[in-house]
Amino acid sequence: MPTFKVRPYPDRATVWRACLFLMEEGVLARPLDVQIGVMPGLDRDRPYHEHWVTVAFKQDVDHALSMLDVFDQMPKPDHEEWAHQAEPDLTRLPADLRVPCAGCRYDLRPLIESTAEIVCPECGRSNDPIDRVLTRHGPEAMLDCYHEDDEPEDPEWTEEAVLRRLQLPCPHCECPLHGLEIEGDCPACAKPYNKINIVQHAFESM
Ligand SMILES: [Zn+2]
Ligand SMILES: [Zn+2]
Repeated sequence: MPTFKVRPYPDRATVWRACLFLMEEGVLARPLDVQIGVMPGLDRDRPYHEHWVTVAFKQDVDHALSMLDVFDQMPKPDHEEWAHQAEPDLTRLPADLRVPCAGCRYDLRPLIESTAEIVCPECGRSNDPIDRVLTRHGPEAMLDCYHEDDEPEDPEWTEEAVLRRLQLPCPHCECPLHGLEIEGDCPACAKPYNKINIVQHAFESM
């Protein structure tokens, strides 16, 4: 089963929130990282990605797009909480990354130990290290600065309450099975379906 790309977002956490939002509306959605290139480094090259919301079923794409229009208008999560969760560990920046001072272009990389402001020893200007990295190298440069355990957790997709909410099509004829039992015979083609299998199969391909 192919998966259908709906909309990209700048970071994985936003994609996760968008997917959960779609799931609440019964759309089977999942994040997908698409590698779009590599950033050369001295020690090793690092892949960088686009972060996409994808849906398992083609007939959900239009609905998902209009739901994401709603999602995009919603207030972002509490900034403090979000900033804390998303706090990057700048000590994990590539050692050879140049982080020039905004004033004199002095390389601040050896001075970066946290996200705290750095006063340039050369010209005395105060620099926000995250801002300097993003300006000079883009968000890809920060890839290594996020720990794996910052990732949101995978919800229980196959929980009964979730399954009942999802608008799943019959695997044989694509007849919508919304409102029907978890397991049964399709009202259109009379072949047996199992919603747990439908979800698992959809995710295997995602
Ligand atoms: Zn400077
Ligand atoms: Zn059917």
